[in-house]
Amino acid sequence: MNILLIEDEKSLADALAHILRKNNYSVDVAYDGMDGQYQAETMVHDIIILDRMLPGRDGIDILKNLREEGIFIPVLMLTAKDSIQNRVEGLDAGADDYLVKPFSKDELLARLRALARRHKEVVFNDEITIGEVTFSPYKSEVRIGDQVVHLTVRESQLLELFIKNRGLVLSKEQILEKVWGFESEVDVNSVEVYLSYLRKKLGNSLKLQTVRGVGYCLKEE
Ligand code: CA
Repeated sequence: MNILLIEDEKSLADALAHILRKNNYSVDVAYDGMDGQYQAETMVHDIIILDRMLPGRDGIDILKNLREEGIFIPVLMLTAKDSIQNRVEGLDAGADDYLVKPFSKDELLARLRALARRHKEVVFNDEITIGEVTFSPYKSEVRIGDQVVHLTVRESQLLELFIKNRGLVLSKEQILEKVWGFESEVDVNSVEVYLSYLRKKLGNSLKLQTVRGVGYCLKEE
């Protein structure tokens, strides 16, 4: 599970990153708002831990921006003050949960587990509709208008990965790692082949764009 930690208090950020890594999360750290926003938009993460008060770009701004861009990665917001106003602002901006500083390591880990669980449930059990396409990961099928298209397990996993990371550019390496896993014997070039199958099945209903020299992106209409 990849976490992006955006926190400007360096000692706190480093301590949190250490705790998270010890608990088997992989962690990218950004120490200011601009870098945080950049990493959130360009790299694949499962959860973002976002400090509210940041130099360069405020946490609330970053969050609003991500949601406007169609990036729905779960966000756990860190706030210094526990006021109702603060909580409402964070939740209104699209935060999934928040923690008031100072917090215990155990509480942080519990919140992360809960977020990951909720996110997984949403993605696995629910149908997701984008434009005229309804994707049912559970049944490995998409409905385009009245037409039902069955997907193979890999195609379904691929589509799920793109939907979870809507608006983000995914490199072939990232796709390979997420869908086939590190240990896989599948070559990075096979990703292209599987993508072409998926594109054929989706037709013009969803656009999996090629971003030359970088990767692929599911654009939101
Ligand atoms: Ca701060």
